[in-house]
Amino acid sequence: MPAPKPRLTDDQIKVAYAIIDTFIPELTGQELEDFVRQHSNGTNDDILRAFGKSGIINEDLGRLVIDKLHSLPAEKIDELGTVFKVLNTKVGTLALGGTYGEFASLSREQRTQIVIGWSNSMISKLRIFSRAMLTLAAISYFSHPVESAQRAMEYPGADPEMHSDRFTAKSFPVYDFIQVPPQGLEQSYDVVIVGSGAGGGVMAAELSKAGKRVLVIEKGHHYQQSELTLVQSDGFTNLYENGGSLTNTDGTVTILAGGTWGGGTTVNWCASLQLPHYVREEWAKQGLPYFNTPAYQESIDAITTRLNISDKYIKHNNANLLLLEGCRKLGYPTKNIPQNTGGQEHSCGWCGFGCRFGEKQGTMMTFLADAKDHGAKFMQDSFVDRVLIEKGKAVGVIGTQNGRKFTIRASKVVVSSGSIHTPSLLRRSGLKNKNIGKNLHLHPVSYVFGEFDQRIDCYQGSIMTAVTTVAENTDGHGYGSKIEVPSHHPGINSIFPKWENAAGYKGAMLSLNHIVPLIVLSRDRDGGSIVNGADGLPRINYTVSKHDTLSLEEGIERSLSILVAAGAKKVWTCQRFIPEFAVKSDLGVEDPEFKKYLKAVVRESIKPGSATIGSAHQMGSCRMGNNPKTSAVKPTGETWEVKGLYVADASVFPTASGVNPMLTTYSIAHSIAQFIKKADNSSKL
Ligand SMILES: Cc1cc2nc3c(=O)[nH]c(=O)nc-3n(C[C@H](O)[C@H](O)[C@H](O)COP(=O)(O)OP(=O)(O)OC[C@H]3O[C@@H](n4cnc5c(N)ncnc54)[C@H](O)[C@@H]3O)c2cc1C
Repeated sequence: MPAPKPRLTDDQIKVAYAIIDTFIPELTGQELEDFVRQHSNGTNDDILRAFGKSGIINEDLGRLVIDKLHSLPAEKIDELGTVFKVLNTKVGTLALGGTYGEFASLSREQRTQIVIGWSNSMISKLRIFSRAMLTLAAISYFSHPVESAQRAMEYPGADPEMHSDRFTAKSFPVYDFIQVPPQGLEQSYDVVIVGSGAGGGVMAAELSKAGKRVLVIEKGHHYQQSELTLVQSDGFTNLYENGGSLTNTDGTVTILAGGTWGGGTTVNWCASLQLPHYVREEWAKQGLPYFNTPAYQESIDAITTRLNISDKYIKHNNANLLLLEGCRKLGYPTKNIPQNTGGQEHSCGWCGFGCRFGEKQGTMMTFLADAKDHGAKFMQDSFVDRVLIEKGKAVGVIGTQNGRKFTIRASKVVVSSGSIHTPSLLRRSGLKNKNIGKNLHLHPVSYVFGEFDQRIDCYQGSIMTAVTTVAENTDGHGYGSKIEVPSHHPGINSIFPKWENAAGYKGAMLSLNHIVPLIVLSRDRDGGSIVNGADGLPRINYTVSKHDTLSLEEGIERSLSILVAAGAKKVWTCQRFIPEFAVKSDLGVEDPEFKKYLKAVVRESIKPGSATIGSAHQMGSCRMGNNPKTSAVKPTGETWEVKGLYVADASVFPTASGVNPMLTTYSIAHSIAQFIKKADNSSKL
């Protein structure tokens, strides 16, 4: 049993509250009146005043920040607790903030000067600390349905269509989950699969169709169709790994991963791109010729057919249309992104919080249902602690469901726990291969924004339907970035305005409905690693390398040009020290000042703590290869060390896929399932 986690003391919580109150406070007096005057359109003064007066503390949302802090690994809680403790003293605040006095007792003006000092500091740890606290405060406040804020931003909250006929048109399949009784559970199967995401779902379908007795174990929970509230905070808390607040160990990369029934496929954005030919060739050259064969294409085709992946039914939303238009003006190549939406239009901007309409063809709607129809059994809320290994062979798993222990015996174990958890589980189970946990790729993402005169409502309609490949080959060896439109709601938007003072920050959030967000999704050549903490759980070590920074720089530069060409009146980036640029409409991208701006953006580059970096694509941490010295699993997906123990998820990618990885994960799992079936058939001969 891991040691119980530390808890912040009341004094430490007092300091944390004072910091977040500095970022999102109740505006008062002249500041409030100025805020209302500056943003008034003559009819909305009361709405603006209510938003101005709403703060993270008076809305009672500080507790959400503390909950998020308590969900961090023990060493992080200790680290932050120490900073809060220092700031609870006069001398400590002087040392860290340059003002003598306990932080929480200072005026808001004094606290404002201190947090700005941290954000602009030469010391990256202070920048990172300030960014982390702002992010926690901002996401907690703007993801929550705070009525005054939503009215001021004209954000509808949950999807207005959620109670329409569309909701009842396609029912979720009904799953029966095995409950572990108080005395524990012991059962036997042919195959046990850990994880119900892209890899686990396909394995379950393929192996149960082949007549195997299959059990799928998932640590997350299945939310019924009617339980999906489509409120941002519920979506993050219920469906994402760590409630959506997972980061790398130094806090510089925010990482989103699914942690529910269906894994990432329940929350993802439907983009279904095939692995590009140059990556297939790269993998083939690295000792995996299979990826260059028609047999691998058969796996891609099988998935494409089952999910009815197609670009025929796409209806671009405003943001995707402007991405296409900006590219057209500049002569940049574009394509439509096929969608896994079962051969139908899918306008579902809230899909990142679960597809209540049952239209997105995640594993919960498809492969897990196929497995169910072929007799597979399922467990939810069940964390697998270890794979059981006897005489070099996998014989089952042990784990816990709500504190109750279970032991599952099986002649094959498939680990499909995703690229963060799979290496961690293999290590906990005693595997020693040095490549387990190495070679982690994240497709680091940076953001660029354009503000337009017309309404965009970027959270409405299909999310990610167009891409430009103009920046995909920055280094001449297939490493660069794709530029796409992300899912964008107030919570995510709130981490990007440059915080200089509370009123200015709230004001910046008011432009939400006029923003086109673009993501620069880089194909990272250089990897990070997953290691296990003292509690046996994964820690993510990752720094964007110099090489991969160049890809982000080119992508940011191109994205800014796209937005300006598309008619943005103002553009900005996720870099703290780069101001907004006001576009001169007559000159557009030809404006010499804009060209200077682009140079400044590239010169500033991506520095830890002064640029916001995200990731929704974890890959490669148990790479597949033809040699145990350089890979964690064989070309068949079986681990080098333990017979009958397979890995089938995005962690087996030899390098980053360079496109959104779902279809590649599905198709590799499909191939691994064929290898297992073939091996079983030949052993029967
Ligand atoms: C917000 C978001 C948007 C995305 N959009 C797209 C997109 O549009 N297109 C695209 O191609 N890709 C997208 N992706 C990425 C895609 O969803 C993932 O690449 C894919 O789901 C990876 O599959 P996987 O099997 O490796 O892991 P996952 O799908 O993450 O599944 C792993 C599962 O294992 C479970 N698990 C982990 N450890 C244990 C344990 N010890 N015991 C039991 N269960 C465990 C987890 O809870 C999880 O459900 C997106 C991802 C996110 C987060």
